[in-house]
Amino acid sequence: MHPIERREIRTDKKRENNVASLSSKIENILVKRHASTLIASAVGVIVMVIASLFLYLLSEKNVAIDRVNALRQSTLIQHEIEQLVTQSGFVANNLKSFVVRNKTPSENEFRSISEKISRANPFIQRITWAPAGVIQNVYPLGLNKHLIDNRVSTSAIKDVNYSAQNLVIRFIDEDLARLSMHSLLFSGDIAQINNGLISLEIDLYHFFRSLNLANEPTVQPFIIKELDSERNVFKISEKDNFEALCFEATQFYFAGLSWEIQTLVKSENLSSFIFSCFLAGLFSVVLSLVSYRFMCSYSRRSVDAKAGAYRANFDLLTGLPNRYHFSLRLKETIDEAQREQTDFAVCFMDIDHFKQMNDALGHGKGDAILTAFAARLKLVAKCNDLIARVSGDEFFFVAREVDDVIKADLLAEKLKKHLQQPIEFAGQQHFITVSMGVAMYPIDGVDVASLLHHSDQAMYAAKRAGRNRHFFFNEAMREQADSYLNIHQDILRGLAGGEFELYYQPMLNVKSESVDFCEALVRWNHPERGLVMPGEFIRIAERTGAIREIGNWAFSQACRDIREFIDSDIHIKIALNHSISEYYSNRAFESWKQILKENAVTGDNFIFEIPEAMLMDKKSIRMSVVTAMRKMGVQFAIDDFGTGHSAINYLRNYPADILKIDSSLIQGMQESSKDRTLVEVVLTLAKSLDKIVVAEGVENANVAEHLKGLNCDYLQGNWLLEPRSINRLIPYIHQHMFELEERTLESRSSLNR
Ligand code: C2E
Ligand code: MG
Ligand code: MG
Repeated sequence: MHPIERREIRTDKKRENNVASLSSKIENILVKRHASTLIASAVGVIVMVIASLFLYLLSEKNVAIDRVNALRQSTLIQHEIEQLVTQSGFVANNLKSFVVRNKTPSENEFRSISEKISRANPFIQRITWAPAGVIQNVYPLGLNKHLIDNRVSTSAIKDVNYSAQNLVIRFIDEDLARLSMHSLLFSGDIAQINNGLISLEIDLYHFFRSLNLANEPTVQPFIIKELDSERNVFKISEKDNFEALCFEATQFYFAGLSWEIQTLVKSENLSSFIFSCFLAGLFSVVLSLVSYRFMCSYSRRSVDAKAGAYRANFDLLTGLPNRYHFSLRLKETIDEAQREQTDFAVCFMDIDHFKQMNDALGHGKGDAILTAFAARLKLVAKCNDLIARVSGDEFFFVAREVDDVIKADLLAEKLKKHLQQPIEFAGQQHFITVSMGVAMYPIDGVDVASLLHHSDQAMYAAKRAGRNRHFFFNEAMREQADSYLNIHQDILRGLAGGEFELYYQPMLNVKSESVDFCEALVRWNHPERGLVMPGEFIRIAERTGAIREIGNWAFSQACRDIREFIDSDIHIKIALNHSISEYYSNRAFESWKQILKENAVTGDNFIFEIPEAMLMDKKSIRMSVVTAMRKMGVQFAIDDFGTGHSAINYLRNYPADILKIDSSLIQGMQESSKDRTLVEVVLTLAKSLDKIVVAEGVENANVAEHLKGLNCDYLQGNWLLEPRSINRLIPYIHQHMFELEERTLESRSSLNR
């Protein structure tokens, strides 16, 4: 599969996982203890805020409408007053004409005309006829009899006299709200009032009651003011004036007077606002309660569903996935391994004689053993490993990073070591042993069923073979693994027994002819096998993990040796080899730094040779180790360059100072013109990238001369010196330095001559 496709699949999966984790996060929040109360309260508050805002806007709108209505009412009343006065003026003038026509009307005539007038204008409360200023007729007579023969107040006559239309309005009594309209028959001197005066008294209460204000939605309290006399003409209100209140007023000039009509703006808004607020509050509380109930039932259902799902997928005793869930996860692991083209190991474990232990100790202690067993498995497991309890005392361990049989063998040993530690409870120690069966993906199976079946078969083989052991489904592989494991143990033993030694091979500086660098090459002085070369154990050590022990030992030894070189007045750098897997370790930088510190030497005494394959590596952890070591002064060289992995682009960006052309290319130079061309190309390329070039495996003078001609910086190989121990190297370098000095002196003296 193309890397881009792989990345896309991973991105899709990541997106799916993100969505799933988000929804599960939301669900988790919803089922939290106080979530129902909190969410219900939040719903209540939100509804309350929205309703209040709505009510506020509504009340603002209502106030504006009420103002308009009040203004309309004032205008209406203005209109009515104008009509009343005009109409009353007509009546007075008609009566005046009647009196003029009949000279002095008889009592009967006056009553009958007044009756007609009163019927047509029910708001006219009293009609008075006062010839020569003395009241002679009054209608209705009943209660007004006492007015007969009284004189009309002179101020009234005076007002009428001065009025343009011979018509005047007087406000008799605010409390009675009577409006008096006087009409003088003939103008003339007041002192000689012979002409008489007609007065109409209008009952304003009656008038306003008869008005058709009922068509208005609500009649608001109002005050009619006569502005010149600063008096209230009439009011339908508790208040004397509206000064401090909200009212709308209209002013107008009519019938010789300035009028103002003030109408109170409806004040029901506040109470209706409070009522609406109350309703909103009630609504919010009801909604909160409803949402609380809903949340409670939702979270109960959700918790039940979660508990159900947990029971369906996990073992309640140990908390590990059960058989069903394990099968699903194993399927996912297989799919992933298929996509990424990787291998992994499936390890099936069964506790030996668990049934007997359970019967003897009781189920409580049996459960405690299983729980302790599961806890130990969890301790050994890495984050992407998969562990499960599939039945009674049967467990699975799927190791995602264990991609070959040697590592699987080591894992089985590790598991055994951890699981067989005595389990202690109630002051008693209980020893358990485990039988294991290991199947490798994809060699032993590519699907869930076959991997489970084959690991199970291997486990039963282990049981049959006497228990307390692990078997591979493929036993041939196991034998190979066993032999590797023996070498692994042998390496660890050899390192502890001081059987390893560093040999050094110098690199010659072509220009100065000095030895600037020496490559450290590990040798194993095996008690039985004699001198063992790295080719026989490095690859195995890389697979078993012993390479880290070898690497750390070699670095420590090189640190000690550098001191010896310095003490012998030899100032060179040591080039050390490290395998890629050494850079994998999270502790690589820390342990190398520690080694430098312990030996009190600095990083600038060393060059780390890294395999060419690491150029292609994108894993930032390794690059960060390289960068950190460079900061400590260590130089980096690309080893075995030209063996097939390099890409020019990687080479350009890689933080290496030195490039070592692989010995196979150098040795091929003599016979193959292609190799010669290749070496020339590599040299040109390296020079253009500012790298120092070392040619490895230079075996004879011809090749050495050729490389010198090509401007190669350093030569390394048996032609110069075979790798040898430090004790034998120091005299060689001294001799070399001496000869070089001699040659320099000689050439200087020949020049002088
Ligand atoms: P390498 O790093 O490429 O080391 C150079 C190898 O070429 C050495 O083999 C050296 O003895 C050999 N050699 C040098 N000059 C000549 C020559 O003129 N002709 C021939 N035929 N061979 C020559 P050696 O010592 O057997 O090491 C083999 C490999 O083992 C090294 O290749 C290196 O990759 C690895 N190695 C050695 N020591 C260590 C170590 O301490 N750690 C790790 N991780 N790997 C190591
Ligand atoms: Mg090397
Ligand atoms: Mg090499």
